[in-house]
Amino acid sequence: MASSKKLKILFVTSEVVPFIKTGGLADVSSALPQKLQELGHQVRIVVPKYGAIDERKYKIHEVVRLKDLTTKIGEKDVVFSLRSSFLVGQKVRVQIYFLDNEEYFGNRPSLYINPLTGNDFDDNDERFILLAKSVFELISKLGWVPDIIHCNDWQCGLIPAYQKTLFKDDETFKSVKTLFTIHNLSFQGEFPKSSFSKTGLPEELNNTKGVIHDGKVNFMKTALTFADHINTVSETYAKELCKDKEISGSLQTLLCKRQKDIAGIINGIDSSIWNPEKDKHIAKKYSIKNLENKLDNKKALAEKFGFDFDENKPIIGMIGRLSDPKGFDLVKDAFSELMKLNIHLIILGTGEKKYHKFFDSQITKYSKKFSCYLGFDDELAHLIEAGSDMFLMPSKTEPCGLNQMYSLIYGTVPVVHETGGLADTVENYNEKTKTGTGFVFKKYDHKEMLKEIKRAIKIYSKNKADWQKIMKEGMKQNFTWLNSAKNYVNLYKDIVS
Ligand code: ADP
Repeated sequence: MASSKKLKILFVTSEVVPFIKTGGLADVSSALPQKLQELGHQVRIVVPKYGAIDERKYKIHEVVRLKDLTTKIGEKDVVFSLRSSFLVGQKVRVQIYFLDNEEYFGNRPSLYINPLTGNDFDDNDERFILLAKSVFELISKLGWVPDIIHCNDWQCGLIPAYQKTLFKDDETFKSVKTLFTIHNLSFQGEFPKSSFSKTGLPEELNNTKGVIHDGKVNFMKTALTFADHINTVSETYAKELCKDKEISGSLQTLLCKRQKDIAGIINGIDSSIWNPEKDKHIAKKYSIKNLENKLDNKKALAEKFGFDFDENKPIIGMIGRLSDPKGFDLVKDAFSELMKLNIHLIILGTGEKKYHKFFDSQITKYSKKFSCYLGFDDELAHLIEAGSDMFLMPSKTEPCGLNQMYSLIYGTVPVVHETGGLADTVENYNEKTKTGTGFVFKKYDHKEMLKEIKRAIKIYSKNKADWQKIMKEGMKQNFTWLNSAKNYVNLYKDIVS
């Protein structure tokens, strides 16, 4: 195949910025398709039309050919439509199809988890069987046949299996290839064995060679088994998937078996959204040339969280899902020690109840040093990135991680655990050579984390020139999507040929 061939790529995902977001997948699902299209490829996106997506604002309209389509989920006849709009970027508009079914996606208070119980929605199997099936209906009805279906995380896990079984002899689909990207192996889409009959997959897959894993239907495992190719979002995580049982768990054997098919491509960041020179959500724009303006953001941030502004006291920011994999267990264990330091700590996050309870209880106890907003607030996330001096991201595992990259670009020095994408993007500061972009602890342990935080505070407080050098090194890093998108194109081409 000539390397200049323009590809048709169908990008299937469960969230996309600006329509709907719970995590980094939404950022990736917006930025990567745009970059691919800028490079001349034809990209279309499929995502569920959750109730929270504003259809008027985004001009989501009906497509006659894609209205009231039917499929079966088990014995149940399900009617759905695919409605259309555009993801409007700075340079391109990418066609996006919204999978519309009121029962499964309409009136829900969140995307995957019932906030009242803290558990997954009972019908997540059916919801994402429908997403997978809708993709094949979409292609048939449109007559737009992609070279590759790019599937993301467990929610898209059944697509490769359908392609390899139900559609393998279908003229339209038989040459279509599938790429499955692991954004996060911690969530696998596991369901009781009884869910198998709902999938409509052939009975010969109803075993451990097919979709069953550890006695359950496992969508992630299904994708890892049937996708033509697999990738994940950093090189270190790609290696860890086979090497580190803590990360791969019971999927280790399968991941090792497919290791040569698992590429690591680091995510980029969308510089039209995350860029201190252009950021609309921050108090004052700044760049490496006028770093003093960053202080205005620090002041605004301190005020917003009710602290007395003190230029010389470091603000440590944290943003993320309040969960064990994000390292909040270390923060909890280190909390009383952290509160002895001369810092302001700000946390923005939402997630596990135990952390909501814990951080809520600490606010009054340490009101002069600690504050948090336990919810989801994109605008605040930008201000925290701009206004903090340091960014703490002690994730136990981290496939790629975006916030540490945002922090680097915003001159907010990251303190991270050496794992996955954090290891690939943050260079530990070496006091002898005065090189590095952040502070990295090796062992997943709250004392090790504290040691690095203290090392960072010491340099911040005692040696402003060295500190500014670290900030500037970070701001010079190049995390544009262009490099990553080119790597994806090369991967697609390898798969297609
Ligand atoms: P993950 O996708 O595993 O949650 P990433 O670091 O890759 O982690 O991406 C998380 C993304 O979600 C970042 O863009 C981050 O700013 C955003 N985010 C996470 N929690 C919140 C929150 N409570 N409010 C606003 N943005 C958030």
